[in-house]
Amino acid sequence: MTPVWAQVINLGAAISFIVALKALSSPKTARWGNRIGAIGAAVAVAVVLIVNADTKYLVPILVAIAVGTAVGLVAAQRVKITAMPQMVAIFNGVGGGAAATVAVIEFFTVGATGGLVFLIATVFTVVVGAVSFTGSFVTFLKLQELMTSRPVVLPAGRWVTIAVALAAAVLSVWVVVAPSAPVLIALLVLGLLLGVLFVLPVGGADVPIIISLLNAFTGLAVAASGYVLGNVMLLIAGTLVGAAGTLLTRLMAKAMGRPLTNTLFGAFSAKATQAGTSVDRPVKSAGPEDIAAMLGFAQKVIIVPGYGLAVAQAQQTLREVVDMLTARGIEVDYAIHPVAGRMPGHMNVLLAEADVPYDQLKEMDEVNPEFSSADVALVVGANDVVNPSARTDKTSPIYGMPILDADAAQQVIFMKRSMRPGFAGVENELLFDPKTTLLFGDAKESLTKVAAALKNH
Ligand code: NDP
Repeated sequence: MTPVWAQVINLGAAISFIVALKALSSPKTARWGNRIGAIGAAVAVAVVLIVNADTKYLVPILVAIAVGTAVGLVAAQRVKITAMPQMVAIFNGVGGGAAATVAVIEFFTVGATGGLVFLIATVFTVVVGAVSFTGSFVTFLKLQELMTSRPVVLPAGRWVTIAVALAAAVLSVWVVVAPSAPVLIALLVLGLLLGVLFVLPVGGADVPIIISLLNAFTGLAVAASGYVLGNVMLLIAGTLVGAAGTLLTRLMAKAMGRPLTNTLFGAFSAKATQAGTSVDRPVKSAGPEDIAAMLGFAQKVIIVPGYGLAVAQAQQTLREVVDMLTARGIEVDYAIHPVAGRMPGHMNVLLAEADVPYDQLKEMDEVNPEFSSADVALVVGANDVVNPSARTDKTSPIYGMPILDADAAQQVIFMKRSMRPGFAGVENELLFDPKTTLLFGDAKESLTKVAAALKNH
């Protein structure tokens, strides 16, 4: 029985998680919210250790915590902002794996004596935690470009996945009805396999939704492991993560304009797409002087930032260019697509680093009607989020995703290094449009040259 003092502190920690989630929903309070949540989690861990101080495993537990903390601290400090989603994926996977491991160990200790609900919670934790572990690992490989980010469709992949899922369902019932350690281990293996089969066919633009969904899975697995261990804090924290992850998944699926079922099951019938071979087709390119002139003569400019802006770390230089334009009386806005970059809110975070005022950032629904009255849409390191094939090409992996209507502007300028496609691996017709001009090069270098040209213009 948890002592009353510990229950009171746990209640405080649970409240801190809820406050943290609320604060994380605005860039202004996010840092503060993150700290509150971290403090709540640290206190909850300390309470468990104090209450169970007589355990013979205290030393290995403390060593494991020290190793985990050191790895987490170093990784969080060193990670580049563009690699954040990979880190989230891998940390999330480790959480799912930990929940599954705890459930297996608890099953070995308690076994059939735990009762029906214990067995159901154990089976659930093992399957969902294992799916999250390997699924997140495959997402990591895709995002880190250690494997292709396009759908990987195995021969008869859909049927293999269905067969493995059915076998997992049968073994789950088996473990609940007639508890057996070897069957639980077989179930764990099937869960691990299912995670890989589940994520392999998901391609390109759908990866962010899957990261969020796996995050929700880990939350649910942790909540169930809280039941298995009789730990209320795990139950609360896991449920919050599960609920937040589910909401985020729904919001992202909506932003990408596709039902979640389409993301999950549509990919099984998908064919791997080929990257565009655009090298042979003519495009119009210009130098920084010409681009500065186009911008300098405009009355209204809409900036479309994307992943390449983060790669080039050009946010500050972009802001300098925008300041020069606004000083000339030119109206400038930033158009923020919900999945621009590589994580939700990526562009907001990036532009906040350069102290861009929030009121210059406009969300997709708000800014789209504005493009038709803009003289220039300046696309800096973005590609998929302005690709018109999302509207018309049913075979495109991004078909159905609402895009920023940059093609409605009088002129479109792209700043990118080459004709390579974006994350989804599909060619962008807008690059070949007669109204489009390309300035090839690293976004930071290009913007620096444009800023210099604007000074003399
Ligand atoms: P894209 O990946 O479509 O395009 C990025 C563009 O930036 C590329 O065309 C690349 O072209 C260019 N680029 C890269 N480095 C530089 C550089 N140093 N200087 C200039 N340009 C550069 O990005 P978008 O933001 O348009 O779209 C995001 C994509 O990522 C979507 O498909 C989305 O689904 C996916 N995604 C989003 C996540 C999210 O949560 N936001 C998470 C995971 C994936 P080049 O190589 O020629 O320079």
